Amino acid sequence: MSRVYNFSAGPSMLPEEVLKRAADEMLDYQGSGQSVMEMSHRSKVFESIIQGAEALVRELMGVPDNYKVLFLQGGASSQFAMVPLNLMSKHKKADFVLTGQWATKAYKEAARYGEAHVVASSKDKTFSYIPKLDPATFSKDADYFHICMNNTIYGTKYHTLPDTGNVPLVADISSCIMSEPIDVSRFALLYAGAQKNLGPAGLTLVIIREDLIGHAMDFTPTMFNYQTHSDNGSMFNTPPCYAIYIAKLVMEWVKENGGLQAMKEHNEKKAAVLYDFLDQSKLFKGTVVKEDRSLMNVPFVTGDEALDAEFVKQATEAGFVNIKGHRTVGGMRASIYNAMPIEGVEKLVEFMRQFEAAH
Ligand SMILES: *Cc1c(COP(=O)(O)O)cnc(C)c1O
Repeated sequence: MSRVYNFSAGPSMLPEEVLKRAADEMLDYQGSGQSVMEMSHRSKVFESIIQGAEALVRELMGVPDNYKVLFLQGGASSQFAMVPLNLMSKHKKADFVLTGQWATKAYKEAARYGEAHVVASSKDKTFSYIPKLDPATFSKDADYFHICMNNTIYGTKYHTLPDTGNVPLVADISSCIMSEPIDVSRFALLYAGAQKNLGPAGLTLVIIREDLIGHAMDFTPTMFNYQTHSDNGSMFNTPPCYAIYIAKLVMEWVKENGGLQAMKEHNEKKAAVLYDFLDQSKLFKGTVVKEDRSLMNVPFVTGDEALDAEFVKQATEAGFVNIKGHRTVGGMRASIYNAMPIEGVEKLVEFMRQFEAAH
């Protein structure tokens, strides 16, 4: 068996230990005689899985007691609608910062339900930076203020949070969840599709302050009302059982490896290997302004499309896969989530060095 170095933006690589454990437990989960895929979600054995997963989210992220942790479906994309349906019900207004495709989708979806206001955008420079924000331009009566914390496609990240005062801050943390410690109390609501850093596709994690539950618009579908899932412990209907189980294994792995502070240190070390190389390279260059660089997604280009394509081709043959950049940025993108070992990044940089020497 040989495994590649997988730089996919999502679904992305998972820790090998997690995959092995899942394989070991595939036919007989802890003496139950069944796979987790086959068992009733109402069974005691699954109950302990979902409760264990929630406890790990709370422990690793330091979730305060007045927040609910929900295991939902529909991806982060469903949250683009679910957030306004539930939160945009008082003044029917929300603020948005457009830092990329996902942030823009959240904005466009919210605009269907109320007044969506663009506070700032970095579209002018292909979203290669995080705009400087002036609280004087924020709507004082917004029902929420939305940011996309880590911009998966463009490789930018907020290093400081906007000060929204009493306006609830909502963040899409799909591609940076559990990559470093986060002060949950600064946010009213956090959401993430699991397939970047937490587990398989099909699971969406929502962390929501309790006082924001119960104010959904009248026509909100039952399944899109946070209250429904909060009242039923994420089991109003069948939850994504297997994805929750894998996410639990991933979180156990995070915990065994030192928790979010250790993840941050590891991720900073990995990202530095790549950024330091890019900063001195005469062929490759990063596309993002230095102060807004992501720890998770690193886009880079040669400046020559044909050479980019040649690099992607040769890298793939050498076992560095899914490294092609998003079509809107071009070039390459290395996604280096928690599960990517530092050797993967070191070997990629070594390969880039050789490619540079040859060109
Ligand atoms: C991948 C991604 C999404 C979309 O997630 P789905 O689960 O596919 O809906 C949204 N936001 C961010 C930041 C992402 O990285």
